[in-house]
Amino acid sequence: MDHFQYRNGILHAEDVAIPVIAAAVGTPFYCYSTATMTRHYQVLADSLEGTEARICYAVKANSNQSVIRTMVELGAGADVISGGELRRALAAGASPDSIVFAGPGKTRDELMQALAADIYQFNVESEPELRLLSAVATDMGKVAPVSIRVNPDVDAGTHEKITTGRKQNKFGIPIGRAMEIFDLGATLPGLDLLGVAIHIGSQITDLAPFEEAFDRALKLVDELRLAGHDIRRCNLGGGLGIPYAGETPPSPAEYGRMVKRLTANRQLDLVLEPGRVLVGNAGILVARVIYEKHEGRRFIIIDAAMNDLIRPAMYDSWHDIVPVAEAGPGVPISEADVVGPICESGDTLAKARPLPPLAPDDLIAVRGAGAYGAVMASTYNSRALIPEVLVRGDQFAVIRPRQSIDDLLALDRPAPWLSPTLD
Ligand SMILES: *Cc1c(COP(=O)(O)O)cnc(C)c1O
Repeated sequence: MDHFQYRNGILHAEDVAIPVIAAAVGTPFYCYSTATMTRHYQVLADSLEGTEARICYAVKANSNQSVIRTMVELGAGADVISGGELRRALAAGASPDSIVFAGPGKTRDELMQALAADIYQFNVESEPELRLLSAVATDMGKVAPVSIRVNPDVDAGTHEKITTGRKQNKFGIPIGRAMEIFDLGATLPGLDLLGVAIHIGSQITDLAPFEEAFDRALKLVDELRLAGHDIRRCNLGGGLGIPYAGETPPSPAEYGRMVKRLTANRQLDLVLEPGRVLVGNAGILVARVIYEKHEGRRFIIIDAAMNDLIRPAMYDSWHDIVPVAEAGPGVPISEADVVGPICESGDTLAKARPLPPLAPDDLIAVRGAGAYGAVMASTYNSRALIPEVLVRGDQFAVIRPRQSIDDLLALDRPAPWLSPTLD
């Protein structure tokens, strides 16, 4: 359910017509809906009512500070994966005691930064990280709140590049070795070993792998408690999928009910780290048609490309593509490939899609682009980063302006031994 609907044949974001935004900011641009984010957050939060569950929004899905701020105002904490994301979350007003720091490669500087900020929890992913965190915390005179991320060896049934909970993945400590690591951690200074963390992957469209992984994590909690470890928290990760191509993932409410059922009467503070499910369907990428070309195949060449939205090229992902001006009845529909201007065949946003005739300057929208869209953009082919726009009701705001080519060129520095350019 999202708030991108046609009104009088024109696609709107909530109460704002997409062509109005396009006229104001140019194309391409990302457009996010506050009402959609709010709804997704609320459904999940409501389903967890009565539990000690904290929803820490996985900032990496969409880290624009206005998006983080929207989540924070709804009551969310933040799950961060880098020092940069920690800075963003704090700048957006997330309270330090609602921030969880995950990821397998936290550097010494990042650990120091997070300790100085007094965050809620470190999700530690390896023995060397545990030892370094102990040393750094001790040096700083701090005690680090730690959950150990265990790898439950569950196949989440998702794309190879975003599955994280099988034993061959780089994440966490094999669950069979968890007891040994907790025993070790208990002997190290500067640590408060208080929880177990898991995260098995992303875009998971079935409850079964979640349930299996949560079961394993909760069994481990029981074993650790029996062995004398004071486990107070369980971090269940994120990963709930969204419908991109007619998949029917469990609703956040079903997911929440399952969490509630499995964790009832366990005296555990829960941390959830949803990213995609909160913002994925709350965003679209709007682009303009440059050319339509018929050479055996029908190609719609648009002004957005793989550098703006890399998911189709990187994960073979499917995004719905719709014309901003709805095709009227009786308009001939034919299949087209929707491609960008970049000189790689991988720069194909969609293949063989039924689309009405499109003329140069017509607008199209790529749906489901709110998560892992703008955050993964690059300037490949010297294409400047595109704007992000946030809509709320009948208002819209540019929450990241378009980068100029001058800004982009100004990032380079001439090597001193080269002769000066003419300017
Ligand atoms: C990526 C990630 C998330 C969020 O995943 P989604 O699929 O966007 O919900 C949560 N926790 C951790 C540790 C992650 O790496």
